[in-house]
Amino acid sequence: MSLISPWRADFPALDALQRQGQTYLDSAATAQKPQALIDAMAHYYANGAANVHRAQHLPGAMATQAFEDTRRKAGEWLNAGDSGHVVFTHGTTSALNLLAYGLEHLFEAGDEIVISALEHHANLLPWQQLAKRRQARLVVLPLTTQGVIDLDAAATLISSRTRLLAVGQLSNVLGTWQPVAQLIALARAQGALTVIDGAQGVVHGRHDVQAMHCDFYVFSGHKLYGPDGVGVLFGRHQALAQLRHWQFGGEMVLQAGYLDATFRPAPLGFEAGTPPISAVIGLGATFDYLNDVNQTAVAEHEARLHDLLCAGLLLREGVRLLGDPSVALASFVIEGVHNADLAHLLTEQGIAVRAGHHCAIPLISSLGLAGAIRVSLGLYNDSEDLAHFFNALDQALELLR
Ligand code: PLP
Repeated sequence: MSLISPWRADFPALDALQRQGQTYLDSAATAQKPQALIDAMAHYYANGAANVHRAQHLPGAMATQAFEDTRRKAGEWLNAGDSGHVVFTHGTTSALNLLAYGLEHLFEAGDEIVISALEHHANLLPWQQLAKRRQARLVVLPLTTQGVIDLDAAATLISSRTRLLAVGQLSNVLGTWQPVAQLIALARAQGALTVIDGAQGVVHGRHDVQAMHCDFYVFSGHKLYGPDGVGVLFGRHQALAQLRHWQFGGEMVLQAGYLDATFRPAPLGFEAGTPPISAVIGLGATFDYLNDVNQTAVAEHEARLHDLLCAGLLLREGVRLLGDPSVALASFVIEGVHNADLAHLLTEQGIAVRAGHHCAIPLISSLGLAGAIRVSLGLYNDSEDLAHFFNALDQALELLR
């Protein structure tokens, strides 16, 4: 079956990569960028860069306007309404670290922080370190064999000792959606705060933070076809009110003396220093671009890519898929074939996939593996990309077996 992407031409890098003999199948690590983003960032730099919020002059006012427009668009993307604020961070990792420091004062010895067995290091290590600092306990929710957080286990492990639940919406290794709504309900019933790592989930479909009822939802611009260096932290008003300032400097201050200072509330209170202005402007253009594409058509295209990818992998002898992927993101190992050797042969043939532990060492180790190969597709991929991949895979397997 031939599957063409109507959006491919919007992403100039795809052609450039093709000219370099590269087939890009690593969008879950970072996605390629639409021309609209490149134009918006170039326009900002070519027409007058200026700092935001503090400047009185016209370039400053224009930069501030574009910057604040993106904040509005990010809120709309998540259907935040007036339930909370969007804080700009440098990415998912910096948002999660902000939370782990900003909420630290709420934890006492013996309190529990609940995560799951599939978390990316970005949603594990900040909580692990917080637990160590406060003598709190990290509780790890187990997975079912399909690679989904086990809700029965969660119902017993989330308890009155739980102060915070932090889970990924979509696994970056297994490609599986997680039952975040049910987990949030369990945590809320115990009065715990809830944090959703939307780094992967935000890329696939639209999500509604009001319907989800999470306290915080975080993601990175660069995986959502936006620029790197910028991330979004959505927080509900009541949750943000509990967050302490953690980085100090310009922009976030209300009044400052030599011995004391007062600080702004969210969002600006959590955006100390000059923010990534051009990246925020680029992210705004990305939201415009994504709002213009037909989301239903994208979902259908990605569903077909998913089917082609999974069916093609399972056709090959000895392939073991990790979990049961819900999106066009699949990690696999092949019986009798060393992961690193296969990755090397794929790379030599211009196939850009990811190999290794995918920043989830505990998960990969718990599966008894040293690593896996991950193929992850974006809206610009097509069946020809997959044909290149499967050709290269077959040739590599011929050499290795
Ligand atoms: N969480 C998940 C599920 C991810 O896949 C990633 C990146 O791969 C991150 C967090 C970290 O994102 P970033 O490196 O953009 O901060």
